[in-house]
Amino acid sequence: MKKRYILSPGPTSVPSEVLLAQAAPVMHHRTPQFAEIAKECFEGLKKVFLTESPVLIFASSGTGAMESAVVNLLSPGDKTIVIRSGKFGERWGELCEAYGVGFTPIDVEWGKAVKPADVAAALKKTPGAKAVFATHCETSTGVLHPVKELAAVTAGTDAVLVVDAVSSLGGVPLRTDEWGVDVVVTGSQKAIMLPPGLAFASISEKAKKLSESAKCPRYYFDWRPALKSYAKNDFAWTPAVNMMFGLRESLKMLLEEGMENVFARHARLATAVRAAVAALGLELFAEAPADVVTAVKVPEGIDGGALVKKLRDEQGITIAGGQGHVKGKIFRIATMGFADTYDVPVVIAGLEVVLSQLGYSFKVGSGVGAAVKTLAK
Ligand code: PMP
Repeated sequence: MKKRYILSPGPTSVPSEVLLAQAAPVMHHRTPQFAEIAKECFEGLKKVFLTESPVLIFASSGTGAMESAVVNLLSPGDKTIVIRSGKFGERWGELCEAYGVGFTPIDVEWGKAVKPADVAAALKKTPGAKAVFATHCETSTGVLHPVKELAAVTAGTDAVLVVDAVSSLGGVPLRTDEWGVDVVVTGSQKAIMLPPGLAFASISEKAKKLSESAKCPRYYFDWRPALKSYAKNDFAWTPAVNMMFGLRESLKMLLEEGMENVFARHARLATAVRAAVAALGLELFAEAPADVVTAVKVPEGIDGGALVKKLRDEQGITIAGGQGHVKGKIFRIATMGFADTYDVPVVIAGLEVVLSQLGYSFKVGSGVGAAVKTLAK
């Protein structure tokens, strides 16, 4: 027997209350009973997205909601700005390419955060740009990008700000309305505490207007029929009924804790992980680390792939390695969603076991000690 722990940046572990809710008998979706559940989910999502705008639900992974933003906001040949600072920023560019939407890339070194002034300059140099595509927490690097400042840049322009918050929403503050973010997309399998399978997109009035004239081909992800149904607590197509049962439960749990407390919990856990990392003599990869995932540089002489594999296969703890050109060079510990105090000493203890086995020189217990000291504050 091996007890398994999942501290990867998605999928994340799911509370049993949510899993049990999803195990209820299937309900028909065109019924007043299901409309009640849909209504609760729509209302709850607004509170988690910190917006008064509609939040649509798709039966897809997070990338589906990203694709929905591109096809609903733009027409082939349109000009946009894409911030590429890791694997997921690159995805915005790939989606634009797939639909013939033009984009000016802002390439940011992996591990660094975008400078809002660079986005302002790119917008100036791209008259008529219709959208800026950004990533809130770039999961591949663990960087939290300054979305509030980016929203201040797009506010005075015709461009909408579209933010991939797949790994941050519900973990770190993203004040959609207060900051003026037009479209926020996320997925179910991270801080929202659900299995993979749902995606969400909030749509501001400015974004909705743009979507009325966009010419990219769209059907399944067309916001127009989805918004029409949304107004009646309904769905254009068959929703993922049982995942909606789970969503209702996870939203209830998040809102009972209170979003500000949820953010504070994430900050506390990530601070403890960072303290442990420093005490172990390891270095963070991100210059502006997000409180949902901590990316750490693999120390010289240690095989990063083996570290992640040993932790998973021998210790039962799943974290993530690096992606793209930082594969083998970093590892990532997520404390997002259904993560609490004692997940931190568990993952740090496992890390210490594996680091000792791989011959890394450090004082055993120093990481766990630093984490516990931080958590005790
Ligand atoms: N954006 C970010 C920031 C992500 O972390 C992920 C998933 N790791 C995605 C997009 C893609 O989401 P999905 O795999 O759910 O399509």
